[in-house]
Amino acid sequence: MTENTDRIHDLPSLRDALREFAEARDWRPYHTPKNLAMAMIVEAAELVEHFQWATPAESMALPPDKLLEVREEVADTLIYLIELADALGIDLIAAARDKIAKNAIKYPAPRREP
Ligand SMILES: [Mg+2]
Repeated sequence: MTENTDRIHDLPSLRDALREFAEARDWRPYHTPKNLAMAMIVEAAELVEHFQWATPAESMALPPDKLLEVREEVADTLIYLIELADALGIDLIAAARDKIAKNAIKYPAPRREP
């Protein structure tokens, strides 16, 4: 059976699809915050591995096959981040919105003369 991924178009629908994916495979018991955080970092490490030893210029001009591999690791990392947030009851958009507001206070933009 293939997954119906056409209905995934935003974070809530992605979260719901991931819940169903895990539940259909009886993976939910393994999806503890600890396991999900560790899995996310493993995927982030797989992402970083693609850039290890690359020059800044090389990292900005990835060949198509390499970009495809990076794309998959970005997806893996995002999937585990969403599952981690879901396991902890964290609204990712609200958390990001709050953090941006906090960062704006901590790092005010320099005034630019007109
Ligand atoms: Mg991976």
